[in-house]
Amino acid sequence: MGKQVLIVGAGVGGLCSALRLASKGYKVKILEKNSQAGGRLNQLKKDGFTFDIGPSFFSMSYEFEELARDCNIVLPFEYQALDPLYSVHFHGNNTPYRLYKDIHRLAEQFKDIEPDFERKMKRYLDECKSVFDETVDVVIKQNFDSLIHYIISLLRVHPKHLPKLMRTFWQEVGRYFSSSEVQQILSLVSFFLGRTPFETPAVFTLLSYTEFVHDGYHNVKGGMYKIVEGFVDELNKMGVVIEYNTEIIDFQPRNGKISVLIDSNGRVHNSDVFLINADAAVFRGRVMRQKSFDEHHLSKMKWTMGYLTFYLGLDTKLPHVDHHNFYLGADFRAYAEKITQHPDNLDNPYYYVNVLSKHNAECAPEGCENLFFVCPVPSLQLKSDWSDRDKVVNGIIDDFSQRIGVDVASHIISKTIYTPHEWAKMVNLQYGSGLGLSHDLGQIGGFRPKNVDEKFCNLFYVGASTTPGAGIPMAVISSKLTCERIEEFSSVNN
Ligand SMILES: Cc1cc2nc3c(=O)[nH]c(=O)nc-3n(C[C@H](O)[C@H](O)[C@H](O)COP(=O)(O)OP(=O)(O)OC[C@H]3O[C@@H](n4cnc5c(N)ncnc54)[C@H](O)[C@@H]3O)c2cc1C
Repeated sequence: MGKQVLIVGAGVGGLCSALRLASKGYKVKILEKNSQAGGRLNQLKKDGFTFDIGPSFFSMSYEFEELARDCNIVLPFEYQALDPLYSVHFHGNNTPYRLYKDIHRLAEQFKDIEPDFERKMKRYLDECKSVFDETVDVVIKQNFDSLIHYIISLLRVHPKHLPKLMRTFWQEVGRYFSSSEVQQILSLVSFFLGRTPFETPAVFTLLSYTEFVHDGYHNVKGGMYKIVEGFVDELNKMGVVIEYNTEIIDFQPRNGKISVLIDSNGRVHNSDVFLINADAAVFRGRVMRQKSFDEHHLSKMKWTMGYLTFYLGLDTKLPHVDHHNFYLGADFRAYAEKITQHPDNLDNPYYYVNVLSKHNAECAPEGCENLFFVCPVPSLQLKSDWSDRDKVVNGIIDDFSQRIGVDVASHIISKTIYTPHEWAKMVNLQYGSGLGLSHDLGQIGGFRPKNVDEKFCNLFYVGASTTPGAGIPMAVISSKLTCERIEEFSSVNN
C-alpha cells in the first residue's frame, strides 16, 4: 500500500478514519486547528474540574466494537449501558420520570396518565424497529454513487413507511399516545438530531427503537473524552502524527487532483490522498471555493439548532440529582418555536444537566460536583446577538435551583459559558449549528454532501455533514464508508 493520507481534523470522524487507514498500512498524518484532538467530543480542564464539553453519552456501541476489530486493536476505553437512560423533569412536578428500558417498569410510572401504556409502547417500538431494520443497511450504512443509486436503495424500504415522510416526529408519537407528558418524553430524542420534534420527519422515530430496545445509551468510564485519549494513544502506537494548531485555509490543484493543502501560516502539506474531517459543506465553500457551497448556498441549506452550553464547578455535592437529566419548561411547543422561528427571548427553556462527577469522582475535587448544562437555542442564523448570555444562563441556574431546592449560584466556584459563537469558532461550525447540516429529507442519504469530492478525485470527506449524519456512532460509520472509497481509489491509482 504505502500511500500517504493527510487528514484535516482530529474529530471522531478523523480519528476513526486514521485508525482504519493506518491499520491497513497507509501512512497517515492528521492536521488539527485546535491544540487538542476530539473536535466537538472534547474536554475542558479548569479550576480542578474536568468537564466533557460536548457529547455526554453514545448509542450503537457495536460500531466502536466493529472499528476495534477492523483495526485489530482492543477498544481503548470502557463503557457502561445506561438504565435508566435519563430522567425527565416537568415544570411544576417534583417527581421525575426515569426512562427504564424495561417497558413494564417504565409503564408503572405512566399508569395514571397514559392508560394501557405498555401495549401502546410495544406497538410503537415494533413500528420503530421496522423502520430501523429496513433503513439501517440500505440507507444509513451505504455509499451512494449517484442520486439514482440512492433512489433505487430507497425503493427497498417498505412503502407502508411512506406516510412517515409526510408526518413529523411529534405527529407520529401522537398517533400512539394521548398524554402530553408521554408525547414530550418520547419526542425528546429528536433534539439529539439537532431539530425539534415539530419539524423532524417521523422516519426518525427509529431512534426510539435505538434508545429503548436496540442498544440504548452508554457512558464512558472516566468521561467521554477517554474515547479521544484512547484513540490518540492507539494512533501514536501506529506511528500516526497529529500536528496541532494547524488550520487549513487553501489548496493547490494539479491535473484534477489536489497537490497540496496550505495552512494559515503559509505552510504547504503534500499527500497522495486528502481526507477532510472539517464540516464537509463549510470546507467545500470556504476552502475549496466551490460555487454550490458559497455563503449564499450555505445560507439556503438547513442547519441544526445551536447549543448554549455551560460548565459549573460546585463546592458541594448534589446527591439527589441523577447523572443525566432533562428539565422541560412550562410550554414545550412554545420553546421549540423560539428555537426555530421567534428567538426574541429565551424564557422558559428546556435544558439538559449532566453530573459527570456522580460516577466519575476523579473529575471534581473531593466534596465538589461537576455540572454540564446543554440548552438548545437558535443558531446564529436566527440569533447572532448573545449580549444576553449571562441573563439566559442565570435564568437557567435559578430555575434549576428552584427545582432541586439548592441555591446553586452560591456554590459556584468555576463557571464557563459557550454560546453558538464559541462553538462556531472552536470547530468551524456554520452558524454555530451544534450538529452541522440538519437531517431534512433533502439533506440525507444521496442528497447530503458526498464523502468524495465532486471535482478532485483524491479528496474525501468524513464526519457529521457528510453521509450518514450527526452523532458519534454516525461519525464512526462515516469513517468506514469513506475509507472504503479511499481504498477503492488507491487500488485503481496504485
Ligand atoms: C453540545 C453538543 C452535545 C452533543 N451531544 C452528543 C451526544 O450526547 N451523543 C452523540 O452521539 N453526539 C453528540 N453530539 C454530536 C457529536 O459531538 C458530533 O456529531 C461528532 O462529535 C462530530 O464529529 P465529527 O468527526 O464529524 O466532527 P468534529 O467533532 O466537528 O471534528 C472536526 C475537527 O476538524 C477540525 N477542523 C475544522 N476545520 C479545520 C481546518 N480548516 N483545518 C484544520 N482542522 C479543522 C476541528 O477543529 C475539529 O477538531 C453533540 C454535539 C454537541 C455540539
